[in-house]
Amino acid sequence: MASDPAASPVASSAARAQCPYCGVGCGLELKPPADPEGSWTARGDRHHPSSLGQVCVKGATVGETLHHNRLTTPLWRARTDQPFEAISWERAFTLLVERIQDTLASKGPAALAIYGSGQFLCEDYYAANKLLKGALGSNNFDANSRLCMSSAVAGYGRSLGSDGPPCCYDDLDLADLVLLIGTNTAECHPVLFQRLLKRRRKGDGPRLVVVDPRATATSDASDLHLAIAPGTDLALLCGLGHLLLQRGGVDRAFVAAHTEGFVELEALWRAWEPAQAAAVCGIAEADLRQLADWWGEASAALSLWSMGVNQSREGTATVAAICNLHLVSGQIGKPGAGPFSLTGQPNAMGGREVGGLAQLLPGYRAVANPEHRAAVERHWGFAPGSIAPEPGLAVWQQIEAMERGELDLWWVAATNPLVSLPSLDRVRAAVANCPLVVLSEAYAGTETEAVAHLVLPAAQWSEKEGVMVNSERRVTLCSAFRQPPGEARPDWAIFAELGRRLGFAEQFNYGSAAAVYAEFVALTAGRLCDSSGLSHPLLAEHGPQQWPFPAGTAPGGGQARLYGDLRFPTPSGRARLWADPPLGLAEPPDDAYPLVLTVGRLLGHWHTMTRTVHVARVAKAHPEPLLEVHPEDAARAGLAEGAHAQVRSRRGALRVKVQLSERIRPGTVFLPMHWGASQGELACEANRLMHALGCPISQQPELKGAAVALAPD
Ligand code: SF4
Repeated sequence: MASDPAASPVASSAARAQCPYCGVGCGLELKPPADPEGSWTARGDRHHPSSLGQVCVKGATVGETLHHNRLTTPLWRARTDQPFEAISWERAFTLLVERIQDTLASKGPAALAIYGSGQFLCEDYYAANKLLKGALGSNNFDANSRLCMSSAVAGYGRSLGSDGPPCCYDDLDLADLVLLIGTNTAECHPVLFQRLLKRRRKGDGPRLVVVDPRATATSDASDLHLAIAPGTDLALLCGLGHLLLQRGGVDRAFVAAHTEGFVELEALWRAWEPAQAAAVCGIAEADLRQLADWWGEASAALSLWSMGVNQSREGTATVAAICNLHLVSGQIGKPGAGPFSLTGQPNAMGGREVGGLAQLLPGYRAVANPEHRAAVERHWGFAPGSIAPEPGLAVWQQIEAMERGELDLWWVAATNPLVSLPSLDRVRAAVANCPLVVLSEAYAGTETEAVAHLVLPAAQWSEKEGVMVNSERRVTLCSAFRQPPGEARPDWAIFAELGRRLGFAEQFNYGSAAAVYAEFVALTAGRLCDSSGLSHPLLAEHGPQQWPFPAGTAPGGGQARLYGDLRFPTPSGRARLWADPPLGLAEPPDDAYPLVLTVGRLLGHWHTMTRTVHVARVAKAHPEPLLEVHPEDAARAGLAEGAHAQVRSRRGALRVKVQLSERIRPGTVFLPMHWGASQGELACEANRLMHALGCPISQQPELKGAAVALAPD
């Protein structure tokens, strides 16, 4: 049966879902408005095991954002200097089919690319990947998770043999030392941070150590703040390793039984004297020694990190270094301990499981592995050899391919890369070189719409049923509780319809999102992320579950922690220690550009503000973008509080108001990344200034550091 997008079940009364913002993945309970024109209200779902009723301002106000400024019909224009005209879905699909077939005939599948999103439900990810990688033979499916946590994916895989996060949120209640490195958890994952603070208010620990160039709400609550220079996390971890060696903090029996590569790591660590590491990081050596003391004393040490680690040219190496630390001290595979990546996006975890990056296939499989390709081809019902053997283009490689005129179709879905990618002027020029830019989007007027030819109105979270997976591997079925506006359709249904029209009727014969999910979980059987016991009906009846959840698992029987048996999914069964020497920033400051610009997020806003811009409370809390500058740097540049500065990098300049702050280290300035070109007078395209150099392993751009100069404007 062909899918009927309108057939998504829609709840008429209270509904439950995972919050569609950050990767904490809090449970929300949603209530309909009394007035049909009003907003749904959201509050924390006390029955959701990940968040136990807690919620932050974003989750609490999401109901206010759903009906504003929505796209309701497909739009088309042949050239981006023309106005859009409304067209039918029939015409939109006809256009897509013709252009895809033309491209396949003239340039081949490598000229097609999709850039998707951690906002996708698992079903959206699955259908898009099956269409592009299976039906069309192009692995150029990447997602905005590339900007968020692809270094965590690569680092976990390199060290532990798989991308599965070993920990769970209960570990926050059990650790006696929590190292928060490269994460402003208080603002970016607030519900988890409140969980830590609750313990501290009760006098029940844990010790908190924060590693961040800025003083933040997170470091304010810490016992020790290491305000390292941007780009020196890896040097810090080498210095810490040196001290562990010196103080007998290495669990030699654990290392011998469960790891490999220690000889090389020991040699690297021995070369990093604490005084040298502290000098490189710009911190007091005593603080580094304090951290080593506490790490050595901890019976359960937990490390949390997010984009401050991942968005770096040595992101993968730094994740591996965090894993090193846990492995050599036996701080993994037991309650309260382990390296725990906090994902930025609500379903970035699900995307990893469904194969939603250019090098991945569903079920934690790799494009480059011939057995994995064959298994997926069989399951998908495509001929052997249908999936191309090489990993596809990661998003920045897609931009470079457009610069060279190699992409004929770039399909962006549920994301806004014309705000979130680095070096935005270069991105705009590259995209202008692509003959067909398609945008599937819920909201009108985004920065990416300005460069699109074909715009497809997407049903968003709340209007389509499907599954999300949060940072602790918790799987939640999100209800469809509102009707999509106008002709908006779920992304999975758009990809499936296109698949059928391209001649793959059998492979895309889905009657519902539940059917898509059932096909996906069957493909995970026997894999680390085995979810084959899960289904929409089970999740609806028994609530959120953690994977692994093989077929036959009783509700509630998922696994809270991985690697409790200390066997790792590597060829030898041992975890791998890596000795990567620190390199520092890809673009260090110099005489012409003497400061380091780092970009980040504010508590109330979400990424490119397409939703949160509509929430009055949030707009009031964060009325405008401000450049955080240390008074010494401001004085040197002739800038005072409230003055306008010109911030200049090798890629362009922007004008922004200055906020003097002693909470940022001299030599570093900070800008929020939220205000894109569509924000009128408030526009402040922070990422326009950032460079595109990234981690060579994870392909994640170094969005946390670029050299800039300041001047009065
Ligand atoms: Fe949503 Fe994250 Fe806030 Fe939880 S902490 S309510 S998941 S934004």
